[in-house]
Amino acid sequence: MKNLVKVLRYAVPYWGFAVLNVVFNILSVIFSLVSFAAVIPVLNILFKLEKPIAEEPEFAWKMAELKEYFYYKIGILIQQYDPLTILAYICAILVGVYLLKNLFRYLAMFFLAEVRNGVVKDIRNKLYEKVLILPLAYYSEQKKGDIISRMTTDVQEVEWSVMSSLEMLFRDPVYIISYLITLFLLDYQLTLMVLVLLPVTGLMIGQIGKSLKRTSAKGQQKMGELLSLIEETISGLRNIKAFNAIDWANRNFRETNERYNRLMVRLYRKRDLASPLSEFLGIAVSVFVIWYGGKLILQPGSTLDAALFIMYILVFSQIINPVKALSTAVYNIQKGAASVERIDQVLSAEEVITEKPDAVSIKEFREKIEYRNVWFRYEQEDVLRNINLVVERGKSIALVGASGSGKSTMADLLPRFYDVTQGEILIDGIPIRDCIISDVRGLMGIVSQETVLFNASVFDNIAFGLQGVTMEQVVEAARVANAHEFIMQMPEGYETNIGDRGIKMSGGQRQRISIARAVLRNPPVMILDEATSALDTESERLVQEALTSLMQNRTSLVIAHRLSTIQHADEIIVLQKGEIVERGSHSDLMALNGVYKKLHDMQALG
Ligand code: ADP
Ligand code: MG
Repeated sequence: MKNLVKVLRYAVPYWGFAVLNVVFNILSVIFSLVSFAAVIPVLNILFKLEKPIAEEPEFAWKMAELKEYFYYKIGILIQQYDPLTILAYICAILVGVYLLKNLFRYLAMFFLAEVRNGVVKDIRNKLYEKVLILPLAYYSEQKKGDIISRMTTDVQEVEWSVMSSLEMLFRDPVYIISYLITLFLLDYQLTLMVLVLLPVTGLMIGQIGKSLKRTSAKGQQKMGELLSLIEETISGLRNIKAFNAIDWANRNFRETNERYNRLMVRLYRKRDLASPLSEFLGIAVSVFVIWYGGKLILQPGSTLDAALFIMYILVFSQIINPVKALSTAVYNIQKGAASVERIDQVLSAEEVITEKPDAVSIKEFREKIEYRNVWFRYEQEDVLRNINLVVERGKSIALVGASGSGKSTMADLLPRFYDVTQGEILIDGIPIRDCIISDVRGLMGIVSQETVLFNASVFDNIAFGLQGVTMEQVVEAARVANAHEFIMQMPEGYETNIGDRGIKMSGGQRQRISIARAVLRNPPVMILDEATSALDTESERLVQEALTSLMQNRTSLVIAHRLSTIQHADEIIVLQKGEIVERGSHSDLMALNGVYKKLHDMQALG
């Protein structure tokens, strides 16, 4: 039930609708009770059970007196009009009462719809927001598919199991309590007997519910694995085909899917037990009521008359449905509880990269960036060891080294994609941990090997996140990035949707759009992480030109796989296994005849 509370917390903003729902439910119950009371005179007329009461009884709010009074009034009516007319009237009243009952029932659901969907919408928004804020490191630990599954299938599960149960949770207790009160008024002895049987029933249902939650948790986890597989497959399809691994992938998927299937079969069998089980238990209790109540009536001098007993059974039969629904709701909530937990794990995941409450604003870059005794590790192994580096304003620093030597990691520390394990990074003497995160990132433009364009127009992809950008500014940025010409050749120029034809754009074109994105931002610091390494020679030349104009009058940290492009850097840093092993200008390093010279010669040969 802890999980239910978690979900209900989201319902707080919608409390007004929830109250309306309860109010209309109560109205609906009242009318259904009235409808049963209206049946009594019909029975009495048809079966001529009651002699009219001669004297007007005292009116009082007690069942026995109320009954007498009611019978008396009916008796008078029966005497005045012929039974057929009265029957017709009562039938008309019955129709009216039922109409109102169902109208109120609908209104109750009408308002609940807002609560149901609102809560799910809020959870989804919260999750998305969290996904944006969570550190990059979070996604390397947990598979992407698992997160997608939490955002989609788990939210849907909450929508289906928990939120659809909400309806019953708000409605059925109101029904059950009102019916129980009526039953007590009709015959408390009989009702007490019934009440003893209810907890026994409840216990049986609760037990299965618990096991249901466990299975459901496993099921959602398996679903996450499936989604991860699909995600991997689609992004790695080229490799799967190239290595003739279609059969292997297919088998792998089938096996995972089969395990999911077995789990779900077990889950549904358990869940489907709820309704038959509670129906049987309900009927067992009803039969008991008929037997026991019948015995009471047949006893001489009983307070219960046949018409009232019929009403009793009618009301009692009405209680069975809400009890059944409530037990199904409890089952469903148990099933959904697993999903609520999975969602909560994401929502409560530590943000790691956090902003201090008194973080300072840093809107300008004046002097230098400094890496001071920086150590970093992703997991166990140190990836960067004791890095010391000063990047002065206006200078261009190049990072070179073998693949895996820690170049990208070093660059990623600067915009705080990760936080250093030891040491500090300072901008103009202020540790970046003390700064407003968005300010730090605002000082930097990043172009990496992996260009991500979004399913939006070229204009939006360049303006990306900036507000109030004019077409002139975007065109200007595109010109600097050598992108204007090919954009103009697209069917709708800057309004062309990249999602529609993204696949037809070459790597170099995509890269130039992402460079335009960086140009438009006009950040004082540029980080280029192998921006040209995925390109062919021709587009590399165009992109390199764009990068050169991008780096003009800026401070830059450049990672390049092709050493020829960084020969003119102010300082070249050579990384090996996370350590700076050589540093200096191109000619210094060549003269040193060390790691850099070796890298250089290797490329000269190739
Ligand atoms: P480079 O850019 O020089 O090729 P990286 O900075 O990408 O090198 O990687 C440095 C080391 O850190 C490598 O050994 C790599 O396996 C490891 N590494 C990189 N990213 C992660 C990550 N997200 N989680 C764990 N280890 C990582
Ligand atoms: Mg790299």
